[in-house]
Amino acid sequence: MSSRPTAAQWHELCDELVATAKRLFVDGPELMRRSREVARDGYPTSSLSGGGRSSDVSDPTYRLAADLVDGGGPKDPVNRAVEEMLRLTRVALAALRAADGARAGAFPPVERSELSASCVVHAAYGLDQPARSGERCRWCNDWRKTHDFTDPPESAIRTLEDQRIEREMRSAA
Ligand SMILES: [Zn+2]
Repeated sequence: MSSRPTAAQWHELCDELVATAKRLFVDGPELMRRSREVARDGYPTSSLSGGGRSSDVSDPTYRLAADLVDGGGPKDPVNRAVEEMLRLTRVALAALRAADGARAGAFPPVERSELSASCVVHAAYGLDQPARSGERCRWCNDWRKTHDFTDPPESAIRTLEDQRIEREMRSAA
């Protein structure tokens, strides 16, 4: 097993990851644009006087050339670099997602008894309703969907409980 970093080393590593992602985020679109320009005239933009910023997409000649090459030829070095940047970023993202999956999987699983526990809202008022999802019963979950994801107030819980008791009494009569 490889040696484990200290918390400080780990944070340093994650900081580098974020800083790298930020550079890709900022420079990516510019490089993709440049790789199209290189494909258009055969020279990197920087080698042209005046910056060569003549990528007017309304220019029919430019548009025709850009459409023909569609992101530059495979032999162009800038285009190759951009392709590599895109490919490796996707690989890194897949690896990061897998790492995050490992992180989530390392937490202890939710106890079965917790899953079949009572609704936390009902329990707060001394009532017992089986929880379905999000630690709440079906009725409380339905309430949240129509009330901006806020829990039902005690008055609503009491009204519901009264209705339930009334129903039971009626069916028993
Ligand atoms: Zn409930």
